[in-house]
Amino acid sequence: MRYIGTHANHPFASASEAVLLGMVPRGGLFVPEFIPRLEADTLAQPNYLETSRRIMGAYFTDFAPNVLDECLRKAYNPENFHTPDVVDLTPVGRRRFLLELFHGPTAAFKDIALQLMPHLTNTAKALTGDRTHTLILVATSGDTGKAALEGYKDAEGISIVVFYPDGGVSEVQRLQMTTTEGRNTKVFAVRGNFDDCQTGVKALFLDSNLRDYLGGMEIKLSTGNSINWGRLAPQIVYYIRAYALLAARSEIKMGDEVDICVPTGNFGNILAAWYARAMGLPVRKLFCASNKNNILTDFFQTGVYDTHREFHRTSSPSMDILISSNLERFLFEIAGRDAERIKPWFLDRFRTGRFEIDADTKKAIDALVIPGWADEPRVFAEIKTVYEETGKVIDTHTAVASAVSRDAGPKDGPATIIASTASPFKFSGDVYAAIAGRAEPDEFAAIEKLSGIAKEPAHRAVRGLKERPVLHDGVLSISQMREAVIGFAEGVKNKV
Ligand SMILES: *Cc1c(COP(=O)(O)O)cnc(C)c1O
Repeated sequence: MRYIGTHANHPFASASEAVLLGMVPRGGLFVPEFIPRLEADTLAQPNYLETSRRIMGAYFTDFAPNVLDECLRKAYNPENFHTPDVVDLTPVGRRRFLLELFHGPTAAFKDIALQLMPHLTNTAKALTGDRTHTLILVATSGDTGKAALEGYKDAEGISIVVFYPDGGVSEVQRLQMTTTEGRNTKVFAVRGNFDDCQTGVKALFLDSNLRDYLGGMEIKLSTGNSINWGRLAPQIVYYIRAYALLAARSEIKMGDEVDICVPTGNFGNILAAWYARAMGLPVRKLFCASNKNNILTDFFQTGVYDTHREFHRTSSPSMDILISSNLERFLFEIAGRDAERIKPWFLDRFRTGRFEIDADTKKAIDALVIPGWADEPRVFAEIKTVYEETGKVIDTHTAVASAVSRDAGPKDGPATIIASTASPFKFSGDVYAAIAGRAEPDEFAAIEKLSGIAKEPAHRAVRGLKERPVLHDGVLSISQMREAVIGFAEGVKNKV
């Protein structure tokens, strides 16, 4: 399998090269040259590891099977994922199923890819003979940061710098990040929102002076964000696994269609569902669920993507995003893999903050995507309803998806898989308020109370968090990000 760029400005790359580069150096994102077919026996595998081996094997053809297998074993084991099969599937009402993706070390779905990424990166370096130090830059709206820090912490030959919006993440998310140990980690708050952080990181990647300077120290930049194909491919696996589980439990018959509903921010998780469908998984509709930052809902309804709008801070901060990076991959695929067709759109967005797709592309999207959004009262009501109906406590992001699938889904539609992207304990204050009907301003008291309501211990990611020392307290302006990276890189160099 080779990889091509969405702007057709890069020669074929191997999977290793795509993972190490993160994004196409001259702009655009890597996508596979073709989409491999889902083999029938992939759906018949007994466990997550085997399913994963087959799907990842189709995309990472330059990895020897035993080497890929070792990477997968290091990531997907009972120590990292506290549930028997990495993910879990829980019914919530008639033909509605939560795909629980949060049983990893940091309580967010991003663990599933980020526990694997360091092993993919190190294997890719070995395969390409790359002996440089890898410096991972991450922009985060909350969950990616901690998941990446945990994944890369103390990894050989790799360091990581995370930028998060100052005041733009939850208290638990902030403490999770700023208490991270590991000799190779650094975390900064940035005065701005997530889009500012992400745009800042992208600018660093495109900065050839910076690249040359770091190159002189034998350091190369890479990314742990979902613009990296190595982040996306592992996410395809769990949709296919979820389908297999539904069939194994006789909730559906093999071959039946399902709907998938995904709480969406950067468009990575829903794009993985699209790839699963493109590989041949019988998916009828993809529900793209947004919070009050409903730019994607508007885009799918009108064909116009317009970033000139107010940015809202919501109770689902990992979806507080106006520029969804992976939309570019989606449009490339939907618009017939025609780089010339999509390039002007992204150029327009860059220059004017707005673009409009053509009628054919719009039509292709309409046939597949059902957009929807939930405002804050609707999200809180959904948490309460799901709890009252099923006893299940869901987080604010999952609630966005649950609300959208309930409100926009047809009553007689197929079984629906709702991506449950975070443990409720990560957003205890809001979840507790939604269920109890009163606020508990102390986030840690809310965790205790929620644990009582849910009748289960809090996720290990939030236990003991309050007692841990804060090790990263730097706050930067956007213009200081470059300097901060250079400072950290020089420190890394001196240690080596
Ligand atoms: C990152 C995140 C999302 C959004 O996923 P994208 O791949 O960015 O669309 C949704 N929910 C949670 C809890 C997240 O951490």
